[in-house]
Amino acid sequence: MNKKEEFFEELSKQLDFSINEYVEVEDIEDYDELYEQLEDQGAFEQEVIYYYNAIEYLKDNDASLQESMELADEYGYAPRDINSELLASLLKSQKCREEFSELRSEIESFLEDYKEESFCYCGEEIEVGEEYCSKECARHCEKEIT
Ligand SMILES: [Zn+2]
Repeated sequence: MNKKEEFFEELSKQLDFSINEYVEVEDIEDYDELYEQLEDQGAFEQEVIYYYNAIEYLKDNDASLQESMELADEYGYAPRDINSELLASLLKSQKCREEFSELRSEIESFLEDYKEESFCYCGEEIEVGEEYCSKECARHCEKEIT
């Protein structure tokens, strides 16, 4: 596991899903890319099944149904499609997105540091603080400059 995967795995402990299972980690360079891939892969989609669970969830989180009805409207559901399981699932998914969004600044600052510090010019991953992956790369680079 590389440093980026480790970071995502650690972060996932605060979430309802594991980031690494949903994204192509090496393609992720910023928060927006990460969010988009997670959305495309359905990472935020939380399902509440069974009427009883749905009612309990709504009672605890949206007793007036205002927020969940707005979500259903936003997603274009017709009244005949709406039931308690759908409302609870939409709301839970929304909460999942919000939880993830709260980690935005943490993710951004990690990815910025990672981009700056973690690669040799040849593309190999290197330790923070190192400049080259190998003596060969260091020698080669010095030759280029002079
Ligand atoms: Zn190198």
